[in-house]
Amino acid sequence: MKAISVVPGDPDSVEVRDVAEPRPGADELLVRGRLLGICGTDADIVSGPGYGWAPPGSDRLVIGHESLGTVLHAPDGSGFAPGDLVAGAVRRPDPEPCVPCAHGEWDFCSNGRYTERGIKELDGYGAQCWTVETDFAVRLDPALGDCGVLLEPTSVVAKAWAQADRFTGRTSARPRTALVTGAGPIGLLAALLGVQRGLDVTVLDVNDRGPKAELVTDLGARFHVGSVADLGLCPDVVIECTGHGPLVAELAAASAPNAVICLAGISSRPGSATVDLDEVNKEIVLRNTLLFGSVSASPGDFRRAADALARADRDWLSRLITRRVPMEEFARNVRKDPDDVKVVVDLEA
Ligand SMILES: [Zn+2]
Ligand SMILES: [Zn+2]
Repeated sequence: MKAISVVPGDPDSVEVRDVAEPRPGADELLVRGRLLGICGTDADIVSGPGYGWAPPGSDRLVIGHESLGTVLHAPDGSGFAPGDLVAGAVRRPDPEPCVPCAHGEWDFCSNGRYTERGIKELDGYGAQCWTVETDFAVRLDPALGDCGVLLEPTSVVAKAWAQADRFTGRTSARPRTALVTGAGPIGLLAALLGVQRGLDVTVLDVNDRGPKAELVTDLGARFHVGSVADLGLCPDVVIECTGHGPLVAELAAASAPNAVICLAGISSRPGSATVDLDEVNKEIVLRNTLLFGSVSASPGDFRRAADALARADRDWLSRLITRRVPMEEFARNVRKDPDDVKVVVDLEA
């Protein structure tokens, strides 16, 4: 069988190689890979330096953390059966474990010794066949079909929203308006989950290239091109998905009193903007603003993401997948075109 692997940080090292078929352990599923989603994390691992780590004893990492596959073999009594549509979770707890990892909260690992499929010291899902521990597999509504590949990015926003929900409970006022900055896959999925919460959602981006404006309005949300300042909106909740640092200051100034702002994106671009942090500090204090970061997802977030996808309009979800490429085309497509939303690798092509 074939797998896509890379020497992290060496863009010329991406190869599709024949590798031995994996043998499932007693608590593992054997899965036939169907699709693999590509995202900015993969681009950072390929082009590095400084992100992505091969398993100990190897210089190559099988890439891919946005998985979708069909179960070929499941242990008796595991609750899974051949034919099930599944995706695998990304992060595994550290071996020590730290207090959060010991309590199943490895997305909050506090000593940094966690591992991640396709990112940090564990081979990923970019293979025609892969194994996954049953505790780290999520069964998807079979009707989702190819849209199930959106589970991992959805889990990231499911965590962001679950945290925001907890924090908006600080006061008795219920949030009504939400702003999502960035209309990439993460921003669009964050908007979907905001609309599912009954919030009045606006999505902001710097341009309206590709299908994103239509995707936003088809959700029943508003699409806006331009700056936060000229939006004329005081959002109660913000999910920031661009990783553009200076936006944090603009969002702190524009948000409603008691707003909750989740920073869910990071940028690998070097920044050079000057921001008056005293002014940002004053805005945050005087408005009771809660600003927090969110990364990765817990098993519960994966289950909530699977539920959210099952409730979403199937046609809308399928329009997020703008291109499918064969495994050999991974390297050429690891940075998507400006008009793409989500590019996926067809592991069966
Ligand atoms: Zn990703
Ligand atoms: Zn830990």
